[in-house]
Amino acid sequence: MKQQVEIKAHAIMITLPYQGHLNPFVDLAMQLASKGITVTFVHTQHAHHLITTSRHTPTSDIFSAAPHLDIRYATISDGFPLDFDRDLNWVDYWESLIRDFPSRVSDLVGDIISSSDPSLPPFLVADTFAAWPAMVAQKYNLLNVSFWTQPATEFAIDYHLHLLKQNGHYPPNKDDDEHVINYIPGVAPISTKDLMSHLQEADPTIAHEIVFRAFKEVVKADFILHNTVQELEPHTLSVLSQKQATYAIGPINFSTKTKTSVPIPKSLRHQVDCSKWLDARPRRSVLYISFGSIAQTNREVIQEIAHGLVVSGVSFIWVIRPQIVIDDGTDVLPAGFDEDVKDRGLVVPWCDQLAVLSSPAVGGFLTHCGWNSILESVWCGVPMICYPILYDQPTNRKLVVDDWKIGINLCNGESVCREEVAEKIKKVMSGEASDANLKEIRSKLHDAWSEDGSSHTNFDRFLKDLNHKI
Ligand code: UDP
Repeated sequence: MKQQVEIKAHAIMITLPYQGHLNPFVDLAMQLASKGITVTFVHTQHAHHLITTSRHTPTSDIFSAAPHLDIRYATISDGFPLDFDRDLNWVDYWESLIRDFPSRVSDLVGDIISSSDPSLPPFLVADTFAAWPAMVAQKYNLLNVSFWTQPATEFAIDYHLHLLKQNGHYPPNKDDDEHVINYIPGVAPISTKDLMSHLQEADPTIAHEIVFRAFKEVVKADFILHNTVQELEPHTLSVLSQKQATYAIGPINFSTKTKTSVPIPKSLRHQVDCSKWLDARPRRSVLYISFGSIAQTNREVIQEIAHGLVVSGVSFIWVIRPQIVIDDGTDVLPAGFDEDVKDRGLVVPWCDQLAVLSSPAVGGFLTHCGWNSILESVWCGVPMICYPILYDQPTNRKLVVDDWKIGINLCNGESVCREEVAEKIKKVMSGEASDANLKEIRSKLHDAWSEDGSSHTNFDRFLKDLNHKI
């Protein structure tokens, strides 16, 4: 039996208000609290508003289902009214998160510290993309734990931006040629077309500012937690750990053994219950399609996928968020689609993705390659068809398709054609595409949080190191 690592300390955690970030963050809070750490968990008021209004039973404390854990819940204003459209105005929103939000966080952290038990030393846990941790940690003399919610590969690439600059790969060349990057320590050779989208764009945007700033700041963190598994990215993690204290603790969302009576609410949107529909379907007969919480595409892509689904004859659940199509939120499906797929297709604006992927009826996932989606799909043993759109997704696709061989590409490049869609759907649903590799990677994920698994061991090592420094 492993010796329990328990420390007396107070984690102050403030989330980034995006689904793909706050999901693992909530699970990290649960894991810390299950080790005896007092947690103050802070959502933005807007995220809290979305989480509570998307449910039938609103709550003022999202952790009320875990009364056995010492998690105190608080909210903070992001500086905008609740009805401000943060997605539509995301440049203004993020400029303010970088410029104005840090001082608001600083005030809140000051208040939390002055009103908490002085025998519990406080420390900060923040998303690597947050703009405030180094400043707040310095002001209150706190340890600064940075949480990276994407693969370590992307972290290593952004961490070594200076090498991309030195080698003339950032800003990207205007020629359209592909180049292989083989000089990032710990990262296998990677084509420029597989880099994260901000590194493929020459003109600076707010996305560049967020990432470049984050990687200037992260060097000041005391500890860096990665939501990945050591066995998946051993070289990358080993090189990173030579630079800073690095711990692979993924998949954190499947780590917690402290079961709650009902799940901790996380979803920012109302989840349509697909369970009855799925229960009536044969094993591995349903394709699940989702492009996550942020990515947008164009009408043509949606329409080609729709035609491909019609041709394939396969049953499906398709998450079509409002605003999934840029500048055009209505009627994105082709005329007559409903009739064509009658009784074998369910289109929903949002669902409980993990519940869907866990259903024995699901046999494939057409995904935008968000990292949480990949972890969830692998965890459930569901092979993927990959259609990355932006951010980390192109690089995640490379890991899934080229390196781990647990999924296939929807097409080469951005444009999608219906015949190829139908062919790829049939291939992934046949199970032949990737079964043996998927089993292997799946057991790496499942083993990671077992008694002696690498993530479990790394988490305990993190707690010991934290205890030592605090
Ligand atoms: N998700 C969900 N319902 C949906 C679609 C997605 O609950 O209908 C969840 C999904 O389970 C995952 C998160 O939203 O945990 C999306 O994160 P990911 O990293 O895959 O993509 P992002 O949204 O950050 O692009």
